[in-house]
Amino acid sequence: MGPEYRVDPETGDWHIVAPARAARPTDLSGSSADACPFCPGREGLTPPAVFRTPADRRLPWQVRIVPNRYAVVAPGPGDAATGTHDVVIESPNHDGDLRFADSTQTAEVLGAMRERCRVLEARRPGAIVVFRNHGVAAGTSLRHPHSQIVSLDKVPPGLARRWRHARSFFDETGRCLAEDLACAERSAGVRVVEDTGDILVYQPRAASVSHQTVLIADDPSAGLAGASDAALSAMAEALPRVAAGLAAVRDDPAYNLVVHAGPVGDETAARWYRWYVGLYPRVSRRAGLELATGLGINPTVPEQTAPALRRAMAVRES
Ligand code: UDP
Ligand code: ZN
Repeated sequence: MGPEYRVDPETGDWHIVAPARAARPTDLSGSSADACPFCPGREGLTPPAVFRTPADRRLPWQVRIVPNRYAVVAPGPGDAATGTHDVVIESPNHDGDLRFADSTQTAEVLGAMRERCRVLEARRPGAIVVFRNHGVAAGTSLRHPHSQIVSLDKVPPGLARRWRHARSFFDETGRCLAEDLACAERSAGVRVVEDTGDILVYQPRAASVSHQTVLIADDPSAGLAGASDAALSAMAEALPRVAAGLAAVRDDPAYNLVVHAGPVGDETAARWYRWYVGLYPRVSRRAGLELATGLGINPTVPEQTAPALRRAMAVRES
């Protein structure tokens, strides 16, 4: 059976039933690169790359994007959960990680993601989601540094709600919500982790989890596909340092990184949505009350955790 959408009749939420996912391997018991499908020399274990850097195939690859062998969504009919699912292999180095990466490597990864998003956008999916899982509690199954890109033909209700919210804010105020929030955080200052002018790093006032962190570049694009070189450079410079700071301040927590983006193929979107990176550490578990109500319960105060992250980053860099 291919992946299939099933709608929860009570909540209207969608879920994907995807039994093929159960077959995916894990390598988390040790740090061995012995059988890793993402290591150089084992390219035959993945489908052929849909993108790689450098483009010259005589040179060893630095970043490879390959179709996911255990895709969450796949091309298909009817109720099928259709779309594409790629893995972005971020480095040839099995033991590498975003927190150890330099800005050049990170810019190469972000640039590869942008290229892939451009190709996917041209096919007019409903949404493109770029994300990275780090650590078992965040759902990682393989250690080798990688991210994922999923394009969905249909827009799931949770994402549609996010977009509707931003769109209504724009209709009421004429302003972009993400930009407005960034401005407000910048002037309040208390939750700012770093502000270079090109990029703002802050922890939102209503953070749903401890150390939830936003990185937003000065870039008027709704998605990664339209991001400027300057924005990618600024992001590439900040992201590994923030990941390293987070690892230092909370003992390398599991986290999910999500590139939040607006709708694909909506020419107005750049006016009311701006792409940004959200980091969501997995330091506490969602329990009964959260499940019953959708409430996030954050046991820490962003006004305190933001300065703590800032200090951890400063200590590392001094
Ligand atoms: N995977 C793959 N080819 C393989 C082994 C794994 O495409 O030979 C995929 C796997 O389906 C998974 C991804 O690599 O989606 C690894 O992702 P991650 O560890 O972030 O977490 P997961 O997606 O398993 O939750
Ligand atoms: Zn590897």
